[in-house]
Order: sequence, then C-alpha cells, then structure tokens
Amino acid sequence: MNGKQFTARRGQRPEARVRRAASAGEGRLVPANSVGRALVQIGDRWSLMILGAAFSGIERFSDWRRQIGIASNILARRLDHLVQIDCLEKATPGAGGRATYRLTAKGRDLYPVVLMFRRFDRAWSPGRSTRPGAHLHAACGGVANPELVCGHCRAPVRAHDVAYVEGPGARLERMPPPMPSRRSSGAAEGASSSAGPFGASVDVFGDRWTQLILGTFFLGGRRFEDIRARWHVATNVLSDRLKMLVAHGFLQKRVYQENPERSEYVLTPKAMDVYPILVTLNQWGDRWLATDGKAPLTLFHRSCGRTLAPVVVCSHCAAPLRGDDIDTHGTRDGPVATPAP
Ligand SMILES: [Zn+2]
Ligand SMILES: [Zn+2]
Repeated sequence: MNGKQFTARRGQRPEARVRRAASAGEGRLVPANSVGRALVQIGDRWSLMILGAAFSGIERFSDWRRQIGIASNILARRLDHLVQIDCLEKATPGAGGRATYRLTAKGRDLYPVVLMFRRFDRAWSPGRSTRPGAHLHAACGGVANPELVCGHCRAPVRAHDVAYVEGPGARLERMPPPMPSRRSSGAAEGASSSAGPFGASVDVFGDRWTQLILGTFFLGGRRFEDIRARWHVATNVLSDRLKMLVAHGFLQKRVYQENPERSEYVLTPKAMDVYPILVTLNQWGDRWLATDGKAPLTLFHRSCGRTLAPVVVCSHCAAPLRGDDIDTHGTRDGPVATPAP
C-alpha cells in the first residue's frame, strides 16, 4: 500500500483546474491510471459479458443474444463499440451470410482479465449451476485453475506484496463520465446476471464507479473523503457504492474514533481476491492504452524486489495460459469440465 503517494497526488497543484472542470461537467481531471482507462473502454457489464462469451467461441449476434440474454439493440450498440475500440473485428460474408465478430489482438490480450474474472466467480459464486473458471488445459491435460503469479519469482500475486510508484506516464487526465449503464440497468433491461459467462462479479464490476472506488482502497484510501477527493465523485453516488460494497462483503466499515464518531473502510478477504482482476486490467491498459507506451504507475513485487510482470498460469502444470490452448467447451453452457483421472 502506498498512502504517501496517494496523499502526495491529491495535493498536486492542478486541484483548482480539477474543480473547475468537474463543475463544468466536462469530465474530471484525475490521476491517470491504466485500470481506469481500461474500464472506460470495456468496464460495463455488457462489454465484459460479450467479451467473456467471445472467449468461449461465440462469434454471431444470435449466439450472444441466446447465451447472455442481452436485448438486440443493446447488443448491437456494444458490438459496434467493441469494433470501434478495436477489440473485435467484424466480417460480413457475401451472399446473405451472417456477420461474424472475432477477437482482435487487443481483444485476445484480455484473456488474463477474463480468466481472473472467472477465477473470482468460481470462488465467490458457489451457488451457480454453471461454474465457469476451471478449464481443461490442453497442454497438460489437467484442470487449469488460473492463477496470477509474478513473472520473475513465480509467487502468487497478493495485494500486500505489491508497492506502487508513479510511472513515466504519471499525469492528470480527463476522465469521461461513466457509461450510461447504471449498476441496476442489467435488471432493468431484463437480463439475469446468472446467465452468461460471469457470475456475481459482473453485478459489482459492471459499474465503473464501483470498480474505481474499490481500486482506490488498494492504493491506500480508507475514508469517504479520500475517495471523494480523488475521483470527484458526487457524494450520493459514493455513499450508494460504498453501501453496496459493504452489503456484498467487499468492504467492512470500522469506527476509528468516537465522539464525534468517524469511520473508515477496510478491504475484506473477498475484496483481496479482486486484486488479480485489477492487476490484469492494469497490465492490459499499460499495453494498449498508455500514451507513448508510458505506464502511469509502476508496480513492484516486494517479495522479489523486481518490477511486477504478472503472468496467468495453470495451477496444474504452472505453464502460462494462452487463449488457444484451453478447451472451453465444458464451460459454454454445460457443466464444468471434469478433472482428468
Ligand atoms: Zn516476484
Ligand atoms: Zn496445465
């Protein structure tokens, strides 16, 4: 955790500009970070679900409709968006054939993110009838329980083992307002979160504010005011998301001073398990969305002292997992693949 850096950033000179921009409603100037940038592009629940299904081999409009229970107009909009940001490419065959959408290199590079979402869901959505996450790893024949490890020392990546310093790309930048899908919109649009490749996590992560707020706790924030000042989020939005994070067991509220009573929030073990998702999103954002290839934040693995270069590996054979050597058929709509004897 790096409370020092967190405080220093908040105290930076352009505060006045931040306030002016926020009040003008033209997007907020906030510390650049790759997780935030990634979430602007793919951090709404539908984009996450569409991409998750794409990794299960879905390529056609009607198949997405069926698998994730998404309305046609929303699906059309999200597919256009994912093509526009170069995560999917559209191919339209001649003679009345149906269009297909395939993952581009940028889209395929989200594979570690999708694996970490599935890992989280398997651990924390035990009631689901379909339990995505475990895959048969073609390379070793074992059931791959994807795990995020340090590329240098191969130890599992845990939040308390990672330190942060400003990277070469550290600066303030304008953050566009969250996409129109509010956190309750899935239900309003008639979708069930239990359909599709993600479980409970998409209810929490399919909302960019929730993601940013949770992410800030990993950078050392603890109090309402820390979060409000960092992201210039409206107080009603912030209290709503904090309540939701407490209700879903990601944060615990703790009174640290009586009379007047003051409280802070601490991350629960369930929230700690979110960390690999944030690290993979950060890595993807560094790779595809950094200005001039300069990462805003540098992560260090305290355990080995090296720059953190995280890798998702198979828990069975410890080899890195790639999109093309996983048998996903067991996870499509049916039961999870059974372990090799
Ligand atoms: Zn290491
Ligand atoms: Zn393996």
